Amino acid sequence: MPEKTYDHNQIELKWHERWKDEGLYRAEENSTKPKYYVLEMLPYPSGALHIGHIRNYSIGDALARHMWMRGYNVLHPMGWDAFGLPAENAAIANQRPPREWTLANIEKMKRTHRRFAFSYDWDREVTTCEPEYYRWNQWFFLRMIERGLAYRKQALVNWCPLCATVLANEQVVDGCCWRHETTPVEQRALEQWFLRTTAYADELLRDIAQLEGAWPERVLTMQRNWIGRSEGAEVDFTVAGYGPVRVFTTRIDTIYGATCLILAPEHEIVATRLGPEAQAAAKKMIDARAQQGPGDVEKEGFDTGLRAMNPFATDPLNRETIPVWVGNFVLMGYGTGAIMAVPAHDQRDFEFCRKYGIDIRPVIRPVNGELADPATMTDASDDYGIVENSGPWSGLTSEEARRRMAERAQAEGFGKPAITFRIKDWGVSRQRYWGTPIPVIHCPNDGVVPVPDDQLPVLLPRQIQITGKGRSPLDEVPEFVNVTCPKCGGPARRETDTMDTFVDSSWYFYRYCDAKNSSAPFDKKKIDYWFPIDQYIGGVEHAILHLIYSRFWTKMMRDIGLTTCDEPVRKLFTQGMVIRNGAKMSKSKGNVVPADEVADKHGADTARLFALFAAPPEKDVDWIDSSVEGIYRFLGRVYRFATRNLPVVEPGGDGSADVKILRKLHQTLKKITHDFDTRWHFNTSISAIMELVNEMYLEESHISSAAMAQTLRILTLMMAPFAPYVAQELWEEQGGDGPVFKQDWPDFDPDLARESEVEIVVQINGKVRARLIVPPGTDANGLTSIARDDEKVQALLAGKTVVKIIAVPDKLINFVIKG
Ligand SMILES: [Zn+2]
Ligand SMILES: [Zn+2]
Repeated sequence: MPEKTYDHNQIELKWHERWKDEGLYRAEENSTKPKYYVLEMLPYPSGALHIGHIRNYSIGDALARHMWMRGYNVLHPMGWDAFGLPAENAAIANQRPPREWTLANIEKMKRTHRRFAFSYDWDREVTTCEPEYYRWNQWFFLRMIERGLAYRKQALVNWCPLCATVLANEQVVDGCCWRHETTPVEQRALEQWFLRTTAYADELLRDIAQLEGAWPERVLTMQRNWIGRSEGAEVDFTVAGYGPVRVFTTRIDTIYGATCLILAPEHEIVATRLGPEAQAAAKKMIDARAQQGPGDVEKEGFDTGLRAMNPFATDPLNRETIPVWVGNFVLMGYGTGAIMAVPAHDQRDFEFCRKYGIDIRPVIRPVNGELADPATMTDASDDYGIVENSGPWSGLTSEEARRRMAERAQAEGFGKPAITFRIKDWGVSRQRYWGTPIPVIHCPNDGVVPVPDDQLPVLLPRQIQITGKGRSPLDEVPEFVNVTCPKCGGPARRETDTMDTFVDSSWYFYRYCDAKNSSAPFDKKKIDYWFPIDQYIGGVEHAILHLIYSRFWTKMMRDIGLTTCDEPVRKLFTQGMVIRNGAKMSKSKGNVVPADEVADKHGADTARLFALFAAPPEKDVDWIDSSVEGIYRFLGRVYRFATRNLPVVEPGGDGSADVKILRKLHQTLKKITHDFDTRWHFNTSISAIMELVNEMYLEESHISSAAMAQTLRILTLMMAPFAPYVAQELWEEQGGDGPVFKQDWPDFDPDLARESEVEIVVQINGKVRARLIVPPGTDANGLTSIARDDEKVQALLAGKTVVKIIAVPDKLINFVIKG
């Protein structure tokens, strides 16, 4: 047959039309097949998909298609994280209602999704701004109120005095209001809603053990640090004229070295015991903290003039007191909002006390050393050692003193052993319009009254004027605000705060299993079948909040009897970013490559293949136009070769290259199969396919028709997860029936696939420590990963820092280590 030129538009349009209404990607209910739930994080409907999105979805899509070919019942859904601030900002900017703006963006993005033939089961689509979905946010919220997991307390919000409105954190730009960049943001206290994530702090930490090996180690580390468990003790210092002030310390053994007490600027003492000048100074610190954001802040403080007594200083002749300070680095949310400063044994305290000339008193010496001299100390030492200058405790080891002193505090009633967590309760109140209304009513007689279940959903009003002024836009909608109290029937006010949009994404993936259920968030039986998610894919920027909140939500749902899962996600994969002109692709940087533009010019297959080929999925990808051209030419080569050799009829070539080409074919198949099972090095999978195609070109006239038929068939199946349109077209050209991704993934022939092998040596700091068998020509990256996978090498490298790796293909790999 004469070869055909590769016309991506013609091929992609043809299949797009044919696939449109076929429900090709529908997950099966009540299937006897093994299940596989693969999920990409749901996008915010910001306008248009760009190539960064395409990369994320191409990874998940390749996996979904591959798993179908392996015989699984695959669930691969998609939805929209549709509430949030940008819709509200767009409404202020161009007078377009947030809902309209959001739904229009969803339509647009969904068209692109379909154009790229991502294999989503659209019957299960979830749009979080629709009442069918957010009513369940409200329902969960009521369950949490019942269990004491949702509560109200005073907390600070960002306030712009010029706009007279509350600002979201994202609206604070370099400490100023986003709308006029010279007005510094202030902090105001408001009654707000919190979810008690701390009730699960212990479990969130403990269950990280279940995720070990299946989530990236750095994500687990970030989560551990975020939860931040520390063991120590609480003790009360008595402040003259006020009473006991509780502090938390992990080092009660150093308490005789405490030379001042430092309070958070929000501490109650500031408001109740200090004068207006001190209060103003404290307020300034609070505002400055909001403006600076996280990071290293210069430590500042002032002396309150109050004095505190160390509870361990019980000697009546020696009841010394220490000064009470306020410090900007002491946080109200962590521990108790007050610390004892032990400058000799804590670096942060050391810097603060040196700056303000506060005493430094060493009380721990090294086991075989002397106490440091405060006059010449340049740093604090937080090492354990022997306790000195500490009354009856002198001479004990730090460990012993920690235990016994905490026991004494408990026995005497001025403290106790304690565990503290860095994680705080989740503040979910937002003074915004475009979110889930919090389902409570404020009644002058009954206080906070939950909206009864049968009155859900509390609908967000659609007609609303967003001016960007006032506490919350919902305050300006009388028909929303003015209600009848469900308890006493008297006039009452509806809560106008809405929920943080992280609530929406905390459980959306459960809803996919039963997206149309109108009587419950989902049917437990469906969750039992589909959960946990087998593979979750998304950006590492969601490694903390989204995943902590999802884990919290899962445990909460389990405890109210809705599921039996402890953890929602079995395996997590965090893909790298797409970079262009040296920066992450983003709308605000103006370096976005719109997905549709690439699809117009080169086709969806090219865009997908590029996204997978340019780097291993976990690494960043640099978008380079010329390499996109290269991918496009490659698809053309495959297509022309296949069409001119089809249909495969006798007689073909002389057959002299059959063994060679079939070896190459089965080696490629083995490699790709292995890659899907393990590390998803799709870039090397695709380059292996490219090498195979080169070989086919070279040997074209020496391949018998039987070998040609086998080669083209397997080549097509191997390409199906990566380039579905071309693969489908070639499948049809070969006379294949049905969707190519529903064919069985071919088995490789182990004899043909066996590669020749070479032995390399593994050196550590130049000494031969191991020998490994590898395929010839394995490059430096390949050698590194093979070596790191080897148990013996792993043991040798455990706990060491690799500072350099030298790899010589077919010969050796040398790890230069430290420590
Ligand atoms: Zn403002
Ligand atoms: Zn009432």
